[in-house]
Amino acid sequence: MNKLEQTLSIIKPDAVERNLDNEIKEIFKKKGFVIKKAKKIQIEKTEAEKFYKVHETKPFYNDLCNYLSSGPIVAMVLEKENAVLENRKLMGATNPKDAKEGTIREKYGISIDKNSVHGSDSVENAKVEINFFFKD
Ligand code: UDP
Ligand code: MG
Repeated sequence: MNKLEQTLSIIKPDAVERNLDNEIKEIFKKKGFVIKKAKKIQIEKTEAEKFYKVHETKPFYNDLCNYLSSGPIVAMVLEKENAVLENRKLMGATNPKDAKEGTIREKYGISIDKNSVHGSDSVENAKVEINFFFKD
């Protein structure tokens, strides 16, 4: 069933650092996502820790939070039918080595940690994550 959804996308520091943010935005638009909101920001480590709280018991948590707060990121609200799943498909697998051809992570990802983009993994989490970056 198709329903109009919103999801949170983040262009991560490795991609912003390489000036890939506009190119990645164009990919989303070409695939039919409407970028409802976008902002380039740098967050504090404490904010990254809140954002990635679901991963707090994982061995990579500390490095992940250091990384997300290490440089500018672009946070975006993307809208499309089935946006959550469609964005996950377009992003590709967490490890760029496993990401299918044509996906953003296959194209731009450097490693499992520097994998260029974040995307919400459920409609419920999308709401929480959108609110995290875009409280109005
Ligand atoms: N990550 C990592 N090492 C791992 C697994 C994940 O550095 O072994 C990082 C990676 O940047 C990933 C993020 O933690 O994007 C969140 O992990 P998750 O499993 O939620 O992957 P995603 O939803 O981003 O595909
Ligand atoms: Mg995830």
